[in-house]
Amino acid sequence: MNMKIIGVGRNYLDHVRELQNEKPETPVIFMKPETALLRNHQPFYLPEFSQNIQHEIEVVIRIGKEGKHISEKFAHKYIDGIGIGIDFTARDLQNQLKAKGLPWELAKSFDYSAPVSEMIPPSEFPDIQNIEFRLDVNGQTRQKGNTSQMIFSISFLIAHISKYITLKKGDLIFTGTPQGVSSVQIDDHLEGYLENRKLLDIYVK
Ligand code: MG
Repeated sequence: MNMKIIGVGRNYLDHVRELQNEKPETPVIFMKPETALLRNHQPFYLPEFSQNIQHEIEVVIRIGKEGKHISEKFAHKYIDGIGIGIDFTARDLQNQLKAKGLPWELAKSFDYSAPVSEMIPPSEFPDIQNIEFRLDVNGQTRQKGNTSQMIFSISFLIAHISKYITLKKGDLIFTGTPQGVSSVQIDDHLEGYLENRKLLDIYVK
């Protein structure tokens, strides 16, 4: 396998506000390497370099064919799977780097920072801009969102990203998190749902 993971930051207004960030005028884009992938049902081990790893539950799009300069109108044709993932973020490290005006790459791209579920064919969703999703932590709902609340739609994101970066089959796009991000602790049980279907099940170790 040879793929890349593209992350979108600040794509839900309630989350932008909870971190006291500014609403972006264009999408905030970052990348995670392939080594960030964590397969479903594998444990996530807290890394030693952070005291504040936070969960960000996100709808994940898998790209089905290569594209560059994809038009927003045809962007949906490039999606071959929809799943759920967690964009684990070392918030302490990110805040330190942000304060210095430095890139926060390491706070997002570390090993196993991207657990991803199996993918569901997009045809199973009547409207990809109206998908409910949530994260339960130890049986309690911690984050809840709907793709209708995105600042930048999935088609817009695909068009925008592909102006700069060629998208290839197998690439994943993490489309942003709603409010409710918080720290994970050892023994936490994280369960991710798309429309009441549990697709992601991860323990923190
Ligand atoms: Mg995120």
